[in-house]
Amino acid sequence: MRIAKNMLKAAVLAGLLLPASARCAPVVAHCTGGVELKLSAPQASQGSLILAQVRGAKSLREVSGKWNERNIYFWEGSTSAGTRRSTHNHVNEALLGVDLEKTPGDYELSVSATTENGEHAECTATLAVREGKFATERLAVQQQFVEPNEQQAQRAAAEQEKLRQIFDHITPEKLWHGPFRLPLNGGVRGTNFGKRRILNGQPRSPHTGADFPAPTGAPIHATQSGQVVLAEELYFSGNTVIIDHGLGIYSLYAHLSSTDVTVGDAVIAGAVIGKVGATGRVTGPHLHWGVTVNKARVNPIQLVAQTGIR
Ligand SMILES: [Zn+2]
Repeated sequence: MRIAKNMLKAAVLAGLLLPASARCAPVVAHCTGGVELKLSAPQASQGSLILAQVRGAKSLREVSGKWNERNIYFWEGSTSAGTRRSTHNHVNEALLGVDLEKTPGDYELSVSATTENGEHAECTATLAVREGKFATERLAVQQQFVEPNEQQAQRAAAEQEKLRQIFDHITPEKLWHGPFRLPLNGGVRGTNFGKRRILNGQPRSPHTGADFPAPTGAPIHATQSGQVVLAEELYFSGNTVIIDHGLGIYSLYAHLSSTDVTVGDAVIAGAVIGKVGATGRVTGPHLHWGVTVNKARVNPIQLVAQTGIR
């Protein structure tokens, strides 16, 4: 993870230093209507998050976008201070989620907006996705979680469908304000996002979140404000809470020993939503933290990084 982050930083730096025609700077955007499009990195990797910014000299309306045929959702960013040399001080931002199993390749990004005087503005760019670097880990868990019986498998499949329906829904309002935070206090963070997994000797799906080591009972905090859309016990993830933050961003907290919220609750950033536990498919007590952005399963640590750098 640390290596990947450094590589990303190096890639960003390379993208800034190299001429627009260089092979590794596919971030170059073509815009009409006097707007600019900037991305937080010249290329993406599986499981990453890219921050897109559309800048205009005056405020923009009806900003919308598509990446790889999927809608992305913009919000109005903070207007830059007048000290910048750029005249493009009005910013709209969106997060592009890159699923951890997305097929590497080049994907088209398009953004359109209406300028203050009613003109249409449009940007197009290509964002390449590279293969993520994920290690393989071997774990021993209870056999019922590797080879569930028919009843358990049916239950797990029904729960999977329920989660899919939750993540398919896009709440059009932005329900948060400011940066996203880590869910545990004390700087604890998980580093095993995306790891390919071999459970009891059998290959299984990659790890879709980050596991935070913590003792049973440690309080879990909402990464940001939003609305609770699931709070129940699931077969694999045990006691689970999902918060809808709006604009297609969801955070998921799993294996809790107890939950402090119910469906429909509005939570504020940092609110205690439950306690660390060892329910579901686990090897011991910990918090599994997952983030989904526009249905893409991404590294949750990147949500903190992308919204915290200001
Ligand atoms: Zn996990």
